[in-house]
Amino acid sequence: MMPLAFRKKERPAVRKIEIYDTTLRDGSQAEEISFSVEDKLRITEKLDELGVQYIEGGWPGSNPKDAEYFNKVRKLSLSYSVVAAFGSTYKPKHRVEDDYNIKSLLESKARVVTIVGKTWDFHVKELFKIPLQENLEIIYNSISFLKNNVEKVFFDAEHFFDGYKDNPEFALKCVQAAEAAGADCLVLCDTNGGTLPHDLKKIVLGISKRVKVPLGIHVHNDSDCASPHS
Ligand SMILES: [Zn+2]
Repeated sequence: MMPLAFRKKERPAVRKIEIYDTTLRDGSQAEEISFSVEDKLRITEKLDELGVQYIEGGWPGSNPKDAEYFNKVRKLSLSYSVVAAFGSTYKPKHRVEDDYNIKSLLESKARVVTIVGKTWDFHVKELFKIPLQENLEIIYNSISFLKNNVEKVFFDAEHFFDGYKDNPEFALKCVQAAEAAGADCLVLCDTNGGTLPHDLKKIVLGISKRVKVPLGIHVHNDSDCASPHS
């Protein structure tokens, strides 16, 4: 019989897993899907009944329908779920407090905000056309500003796995900037859905050793990796 101390050490640590549902934002971008505000409110109630911890209600800065949803969802008496608003870091060459998208997030009065930011150096150079250091400042400033105004801020690390494969040091610096700014969860996103499970596992484990805040995962199913296979 193995000594008890050894067996204890071998026992996997119990970790709390929380569910964050993106049906109302990401799901509504799928083909042939168009939710009305009323649909979104009913789905919110159903997700609450299921006991989902966080419901991403929409992107208030992107369309008036989502802004209306946030006005109405506050009047629902949800018993379990917290509704989160989604948006992006402020635009390069803008000031965080003047950015339309950031202001819309605050106007939504959501207690939780999820902010998506670039973590692939290719995108920073080609789309933002700014130095890499400036992207780290954008992430840091966006999150610290929001943290002063809402209860929780989650960081969606966009194209994280593609970025990590190209430039691991920079991708790590991006999530560390979010952590330093007070992000409550670092959500690693496989935005193209092309990362295979063995690579994904290796990268997530590597990142978990370099940051202290909880990690989240948001993967797309473009390569069918999310489907059960025999
Ligand atoms: Zn997504």
